[in-house]
Amino acid sequence: LQKDLETLKDKPCETTDGHRLSLWVNTGLMADVMRSLERGAEGVGLYRTEVPFLLRDRFPGEAEQTKIYREQLAAFAPKSVTMRTLDVGGDKALPYFPINEANPFLGWRGLRVTLDHPEIFLVQVRAMLKASEGLDNLRIMLPMVTNIPELEAANALILRAFNEVMEEGHRVVFPPVGVMVEVPALVYQAREFAARADFLSVGSNDLTQYLLAVDRNNARVADLYQSLHPAVLRALILIVEGAHAEQVDVSICGEMAGDPGAAVLLMAMGFDVLSMSATSLPKVKSVLRAISKVQAEALLDEVLKLNTAEDIEAALNDRLQTMG
Ligand code: PEP
Ligand code: MG
Repeated sequence: LQKDLETLKDKPCETTDGHRLSLWVNTGLMADVMRSLERGAEGVGLYRTEVPFLLRDRFPGEAEQTKIYREQLAAFAPKSVTMRTLDVGGDKALPYFPINEANPFLGWRGLRVTLDHPEIFLVQVRAMLKASEGLDNLRIMLPMVTNIPELEAANALILRAFNEVMEEGHRVVFPPVGVMVEVPALVYQAREFAARADFLSVGSNDLTQYLLAVDRNNARVADLYQSLHPAVLRALILIVEGAHAEQVDVSICGEMAGDPGAAVLLMAMGFDVLSMSATSLPKVKSVLRAISKVQAEALLDEVLKLNTAEDIEAALNDRLQTMG
């Protein structure tokens, strides 16, 4: 198995009929980075910046953040590293920044927090930009966006941070800025967001939770949490259409991308990048290398006629089994 992984590492993720897509990884700790490089990740689709924040007992300062981000960027350079701005609230609580709400997942989380605290956002973005100096492989991604004015406000702050660090004498390339599609409203405004962003990235963990109104962490309703629910699949198709109508790349960085059966459907839908845990990457790559885009599209057409996640999953398993 180790040998198989080794030979797979340097092979492209390409279907049998020559359709190429990129397999990236989700990271948070330096340990993830080493594992990712060993497994042939072509970039980082989601670096969860809240992870180093969670490991401390106060907000890390600008110099401290710059050092942490530099390590991530340097380890992957020249490959792209997509750094998500602080995504706290919901299920992610910082002990030194308590948020008490009746409905945390519908409350103050992600970009909503950092737009209300521009000082936190500016320090973080300045640290990311300074860390990217000379490497130029940074991409910035915004979590939990709900409307266009939020994106415009975030873009204005990023521009301000950029101007500040340039005035201080740093030589930084302005990074691509992307939007996470996690709130269902964005499914219906994907094109408008794509027109104002450099990339879209689907957070399927939250998108599934919000589309199906099922708490992603509640064991009692875990059976209802289904990323293969027909409504989720249709939403994903609309997102890809919206992004591609504006010639903007679209990725997916939720757990779904690391599921081999789901990955076949995502490839058929036209996702440009699948970002997953390093552990899932070899398996997904070997499955995608064993099927053609045409076959995957036929499978997608077939499952879109089914009415339940159970039937869709059964059809996928059936197909994967015949592939070996
Ligand atoms: C997601 O929601 O799918 C996602 C990737 O973000 P997180 O799991 O960190 O909320
Ligand atoms: Mg999320």
